[in-house]
Amino acid sequence: MHDLLVIGGGPAGATCARRAAQKGLDVVLIEKAIHPREKTCGGVLSPKAVHLLDFDVSHLFEREFHAALVHTPAGRRTLLTRDGLRGYLVQRSTFDDFLLKKAHEAGAEIVQGTKVVAIEQLRKGIRALCAGDSYRAHLLVGADGVNGIVGRELRIRSRWDPDSVAVCIKAEVEVDPSEINRMCTPEEGHGRTALDFYYGLIEWGYGWCFPKRDTLDIGIGCRMDRARNLRDKWEVLISHVNRTKGLDLKVTAKTSARVPFGGIIGSYVARRSMLIGDAAGLVSPVSGEGISYAIESGTIAADVAFEAVRNRSAARIVEYEHRLGQGLLRELKELRWLARILYRSNKNIELICAIVDEDSVMRESLTDLLARAKSQSDLLRQIRKRMLLRYPLKTIRLGLQQSGQSRAV
Ligand SMILES: Cc1cc2nc3c(=O)[nH]c(=O)nc-3n(C[C@H](O)[C@H](O)[C@H](O)COP(=O)(O)OP(=O)(O)OC[C@H]3O[C@@H](n4cnc5c(N)ncnc54)[C@H](O)[C@@H]3O)c2cc1C
Repeated sequence: MHDLLVIGGGPAGATCARRAAQKGLDVVLIEKAIHPREKTCGGVLSPKAVHLLDFDVSHLFEREFHAALVHTPAGRRTLLTRDGLRGYLVQRSTFDDFLLKKAHEAGAEIVQGTKVVAIEQLRKGIRALCAGDSYRAHLLVGADGVNGIVGRELRIRSRWDPDSVAVCIKAEVEVDPSEINRMCTPEEGHGRTALDFYYGLIEWGYGWCFPKRDTLDIGIGCRMDRARNLRDKWEVLISHVNRTKGLDLKVTAKTSARVPFGGIIGSYVARRSMLIGDAAGLVSPVSGEGISYAIESGTIAADVAFEAVRNRSAARIVEYEHRLGQGLLRELKELRWLARILYRSNKNIELICAIVDEDSVMRESLTDLLARAKSQSDLLRQIRKRMLLRYPLKTIRLGLQQSGQSRAV
C-alpha cells in the first residue's frame, strides 16, 4: 500500500507528487498519456508560476514578455505593463515533461500510459482501477484536469456548469522568427515584448496571439454558455491578427479544449481524497491562467497529505479545504466578481482601458493583478480604493464600489 496516489501528471499532479516524495512519502503518480504529450494551452508562465517553482526552468523559455497589449472592442490599443515585469512562454509538452521528471527525481514512482477508470473506497485506504491493473494508497489526489474522472467518481461534481467552464479554439502557427520579433514589440511598448489580447470579439471571453520562439500561439475562448458562434469568431480573430500585425496567416489545423475557472465546485475533498488544479476548477476567471494555481494547489495538497500520513489520520485532509479557503478560493471569489464587471459589456472594457491609459498607478496595479505578481486581494483593495477616490462616478457605473468578498459571486 502506497502513502499517496496522484492521478494525472500535469503541473498540478507533478508538483504534488514531487513535494510529497521530497517530504518522504511513498508516492505513485498515474498518467494516461506518455510524456512529452501535447496539451492545448497558451503556455504563458506568469511571474507567480515561475516563483512557485523551486527549481530552474529557464532552459524551457521560448520567449520572455514584459507587457500585454489589449485591443479593445472599439479598436483602441492599451498597454498593460510595469517596470520589472517578466513572464515567459513555454511549450507545454516540454514543460510538463520536465516537471514530471523532477517528480521522478524526487523519488515518486511515475506510471505513464495508464488510464485510471474508476476509484474504489476500501475499508483501509483507496484504490484506483486501471485497465488490467490497480493501485492502493492511504490517500488520493485527483489532478486529472478538466475532463478527469476523479471528481465524478468521488461524487464531488457530476459535470461542469456552463458558467464555470470555458471552451477555446487555438492553433500554433509557424512564422519566421524575425517577423515575430517585429510584431511582438509594439510601438507603444518601447522595445518591450507584448502578448496581444483581443476583446469584444466574443461575449465573456477574448482572443489572443502569443509570440513563441518560431510560432505564434493564436486562440479564442469564452464561457461555455456564450460559445454558440465560436467557430465564426475564430475566423474574425484570424483576420484581426492579420490586420493588426501585418500578416497573411492561413490557419487550418486547430484544436479545441475546455478550461474550468473560478473554483466554484463547492467541495474539494472527499473521503481520503483531494482535488487540485483544473480538476478542482482552480483557474482565473479573468485571464484563464491555471498553471500557477495548479502548482500552488498541488503544493498545499502535498503538505496536507504529509501531515495526514504522519498523524495516521486521513480525516486531516479537510485541512486542504481550509487552506484553499484562506488563500486561492478567496482570491478566485474576488476575481469572479472582477470578471463579471469586465465581461458585462464592451462599454466596461472601454472604460477600464481609458482609465489605464491615463493613470499609471491603475495601469501598474492591473498589470500586477493579471500577472499574479502580488497578492490579488491586496491589489483589488488598492484598485477599488483608488477608483472610489479618483473616479467615483466611473466606479458606480462599473459597479466596483462593493468588494467581491462582500457579494455572493
Ligand atoms: C486553450 C487554453 C489555453 C490556456 N492557456 C494558459 C496559459 O497560457 N497559462 C496558464 O497558466 N494556463 C493556461 N491554461 C490553463 C492551463 O492549461 C491549466 O490550468 C493547467 O494545465 C492545469 O494543470 P493540471 O495539472 O491541473 O491539469 P492538466 O494539465 O490538464 O493535466 C491533467 C493530466 O491528467 C491526465 N489524466 C486525465 N485523465 C486521466 C486518467 N483518467 N488517468 C490518468 N491520467 C489522466 C492527463 O493526461 C493530463 O496529463 C489554458 C487552458 C486552455 C484550454
